Amino acid sequence: MSLHVDRLHQIPAALTETKRRRDAFVALDSDTPASDVVRAFDRIGLPLVEVLHSAGVMPSVHPDADVRQLAETRQQEAATFATEMSLDREVFERLSKLELPADADAATRRRLEHALRDFRRSGVDRDEATRDRVRALQDRMVELGQTFDRAIAQSSKSIVFEGGHAVLSGLPADFLASHPEGEDGSVTITTDPPDALPIMMYADDVDVRKRLYMESMTRAYPENFDTLRSLLSCRRELAQLLGYDSWADYVTEDKMSKSGGRVAEFIDQVSDLSSVRGTQEYADLLEEKRKTDPTADSVELYEWVHLVERIRKQRFEFDSQEARAYFPYDATLKGLLELTSELYGVTFQVVQDADTWHADVVTYDLLEKGEVIGRFHLDMFPRKDKYKHAMMVDFVVGLDGEFLPEGGLVCNFSKPKDGDPALMLHTQVTTLFHEFGHLMHFLMARRHEYLAFGGISCEWDFVEVPSQLYEEWAWDPAVLARFAKKPGTDQAIPADLVQRMRAAEEYGKGLRMGIQMTYATQSLDLHRLDPATIDFDAITRQIREQRTPFREVEGTHQAAQFGHLNGYSAIYYTYAWSDVIARDLWREFESDVMNADKFGGYKDKVLAAGGSQDAADMVESFLGRPFSFDAYEAWLSR
Ligand SMILES: [Zn+2]
Repeated sequence: MSLHVDRLHQIPAALTETKRRRDAFVALDSDTPASDVVRAFDRIGLPLVEVLHSAGVMPSVHPDADVRQLAETRQQEAATFATEMSLDREVFERLSKLELPADADAATRRRLEHALRDFRRSGVDRDEATRDRVRALQDRMVELGQTFDRAIAQSSKSIVFEGGHAVLSGLPADFLASHPEGEDGSVTITTDPPDALPIMMYADDVDVRKRLYMESMTRAYPENFDTLRSLLSCRRELAQLLGYDSWADYVTEDKMSKSGGRVAEFIDQVSDLSSVRGTQEYADLLEEKRKTDPTADSVELYEWVHLVERIRKQRFEFDSQEARAYFPYDATLKGLLELTSELYGVTFQVVQDADTWHADVVTYDLLEKGEVIGRFHLDMFPRKDKYKHAMMVDFVVGLDGEFLPEGGLVCNFSKPKDGDPALMLHTQVTTLFHEFGHLMHFLMARRHEYLAFGGISCEWDFVEVPSQLYEEWAWDPAVLARFAKKPGTDQAIPADLVQRMRAAEEYGKGLRMGIQMTYATQSLDLHRLDPATIDFDAITRQIREQRTPFREVEGTHQAAQFGHLNGYSAIYYTYAWSDVIARDLWREFESDVMNADKFGGYKDKVLAAGGSQDAADMVESFLGRPFSFDAYEAWLSR
């Protein structure tokens, strides 16, 4: 038995103990000091802290199917308990009657306010009929969301190109090698991203791209339009039952943005800023297109990625393979750890023979001034039955005097072998920095008196700020020169290569942001309008023209396969929101990237604060002013 499997087995006893604590909480003497009541409430879930999160992680990483299954079962049990707690009237009443003394500290006040807000948002204070309806709507929303996602997941289509490799000219050799021609000379391509992205980028033949685009943008149609309409109706009804105008207002209430109206303003602002750039880029693309099609008067959605790629090659002479030579996996990770040591004032120590879930996993202790302050596991290489992308995971949230934080990264980089240093693409390097940014945020926010404020417990639209910010260091020529060297040599990556790489990567950002704002607007508007009257295709068409120079391709049904409409509902804007703040913060560092004092201020005021303050206040306390759009605007126009 290993540690994480052990933890799964301990969950039922921990749940029982948690229920006992809930009963003890409700039975607290009426003369218990109010701050103690808040504290006792916060700690009802204490027995679960060290065991529960393994159930969240193991389904994505454990090699043994029985363990993954067990973990999912435990997760469901805990989720059922969490729902019960959110509708627990006795607990709510005990808290809602509390009056904090005038000298209660800010953290205690905030903890109580948030608890009452969350209870109200679950409908616990409503009459029984309303609560029953809320519960029914919530169950139905989960079901509809799963149906929506499943239809997308199962909507993959295959296209047979009779002409074989001849029609795929422009695609790299390794792509063709992994898509051999069949006996009849044809080749099969799917709409899944590993096929679709290279085709949209490299295929010379516009008809190939168009065919793939059409197949892709008609996935999960028409069935998902009905599902989506029902899902939107449930959300709207729930929000209105609880006293909000729309789901957009409900779901943003506990975010930095606070209201659907504020999000709409934000999207308009970003759109206005990016449209100037986007218009220029669109003109470039049209000019490029006219080289092969002299009478062209527009660029279509199945053309722009390819045209951007052509312009990138011509203008910046950048080839991603050229940069890859400088990023062997081991040296890159070592470089990142050394950089992090300097900036954060910490050190790392490998834990030999740590108890984990797979032999590939390496465990580190994090030390500050010689004292262990946390632990993390790096599970970095692909294997069967493992999660396919990159994410940060958390096992134990830090709590002052009780628990040290324990987190980890789950990634899919190539594994170095004898004679193969596993060179990384620069985009993988930025992914590594990004995820490490999340991890350090999680590990730094460890010293809170309340469990609810530890780790990454800030508002959802702030979550990507520390990770997006840390990516910037992976673009700095001097930082990269410290460790990005050709294996077996002292030859560091040339600054001009980094600059070309950056310019190439940034080209197309105006159009990219315009398209992002199409999604953000769609995500918001669908949750503000009455779903009964929405024409999904018409609204998509109208938003596309409002936000970008493109027109919607006739015969496509984009909303049917826009998966974020389930997971993110109205808040697709959060990506851009985080980006605006991250760019503002980066201004503080860009002229002196290794300034550890400055970084220490950010670490203390922003990261370590966890969820104990509003994110806007943390940022303001670091910057000495509220965050602004200026840096973002400067980035867009450079
Ligand atoms: Zn992220």
